[in-house]
Amino acid sequence: MGTRYNNILETVGHTPVVRINHLAPPGVNLYAKLEAFNPMGSIKDRLALGVIEDAERSGALKPGQTVIEATSGNTGIGLAMVCAQKGYPLVVTMAENFSVERRRMMRFLGAKVILTPASDKGSGMLAKAVELAESHGWFLCRQFENEANADFHSRTTAVEILDDFSDTRLDYWVTGFGTGGTLKGVARVLKEKSPETHIIVCEPDNSPLLGSHQPQPRSANGMPSASHPSFRPHLMQGWTPDFISKLTEDAANAELIDELRPIAGSDALQTSLDLARREGIFCGITAGATMAGGLQIARSAPPGTTILCMLPDTGERYLSTPLFAEIETEMTTEEIEISRSTPGYRFDKPTAPAPAPAAAPTPATIKATPQAEQFLADALQDKNNPVVMFALEWCEFCWSLRKLFKQCNIPYRSVDLDSAQYQQDNLGGSIRAALNAHTGCVTIPQIFVGGEFVGGCTEVFDEFKSGRFQQRLEDSSVSFDHDVSVDPYSLLPTWLHPRK
Ligand code: PMP
Repeated sequence: MGTRYNNILETVGHTPVVRINHLAPPGVNLYAKLEAFNPMGSIKDRLALGVIEDAERSGALKPGQTVIEATSGNTGIGLAMVCAQKGYPLVVTMAENFSVERRRMMRFLGAKVILTPASDKGSGMLAKAVELAESHGWFLCRQFENEANADFHSRTTAVEILDDFSDTRLDYWVTGFGTGGTLKGVARVLKEKSPETHIIVCEPDNSPLLGSHQPQPRSANGMPSASHPSFRPHLMQGWTPDFISKLTEDAANAELIDELRPIAGSDALQTSLDLARREGIFCGITAGATMAGGLQIARSAPPGTTILCMLPDTGERYLSTPLFAEIETEMTTEEIEISRSTPGYRFDKPTAPAPAPAAAPTPATIKATPQAEQFLADALQDKNNPVVMFALEWCEFCWSLRKLFKQCNIPYRSVDLDSAQYQQDNLGGSIRAALNAHTGCVTIPQIFVGGEFVGGCTEVFDEFKSGRFQQRLEDSSVSFDHDVSVDPYSLLPTWLHPRK
């Protein structure tokens, strides 16, 4: 394949294998296959493309038909990309306890996300997807049973691994399992083409589904009919749902698994952090867990052993999870010390104002032209737009006001003085000068209701809290949603909140 692609889907797969240099014991060749290099940052982009293209070929998926799937996130994000590119509407069901950045990503890509109660676990979100698919006639991907999932891994992931290790013996391949698609698809090819490679499967130590050797209750169509008795909630999002999937069971029954390794949640988190800080490899929790398994093997393996670990996704997907629990948003004591080690730009001491560059035009040098005066007069008398906000496109205070108006359904006109529309002859600057002369106020935003000046962001917020702003709206016959209860100050970005 060349370096110019016809569409984003052609960039799925062909992920790099990277040597682990600092974490690995000397003499052992430890490698990671970085699935974060897929376009949406996870191994599930492969499954999404594989399942959709298989359904297109078989006719199970018709042009324009809605696609639905139950997913902990990565599959949904991959599907959202594939469906966006191919033009299928997508509905995803997801338990509410998976990280919120995943939901927002799917919605950003145009998918609908239907949450299910955390107490109903993975099998609850699955049952909801079945229910919706059956009653609406949607195409259900069935990632946990669909052979197209494993087939795509056999055709792509497995082939890539064989190619990348064609000149050397691969002693161990380490993975976990969610759907089992990676496991079944890759392991069966390795068993045939590279029989010397041991297949190591990791699972959470507190939730040993395979390790318990207890059978999974299953219906005739292959779907689980109840939670597995050994399932316990665990930290490795994307691994080990509360059932053993059909694809995973197939892999176990075909004796593709040479060894099971239980992994502690704390070990998974620590290894993910170690990969980031000592190798510069930014990955998720299951990636940390898989590498923790790889490191266990590496520590007892003879020199010259070659190990490959699958790292399923990027760490960016876990900002709101325990992986980032210890990562500060505010400056740490050490960082404050660095800040204080030089005199300028500190929070505990105001910075001396820098001298203004001589040639830069200041607002005072810009005059209110007659055209600008007229614009202002017209805007303030406009009966069709009683609420007017003079704003700047980039301004965070303006955005906070926009959020308040949107939440309360308050119709308003925004005059964005820095937008391209007001750039000619610096009309925006002239209007601002006219505004300053009119109100005596130099800051932006400035808000008017029925031609009367209310003030800037905080004045509107204070009036909103006291009810005075709502009274102004009523006096000007502006209809809005009276029932919204919001503290407007909570709409400011956190860096604008008063510092404690
Ligand atoms: N890690 C993560 C983060 C995942 O999202 C998944 C898939 N749910 C896996 C690992 C497991 O991959 P597979 O479904 O192919 O078993």
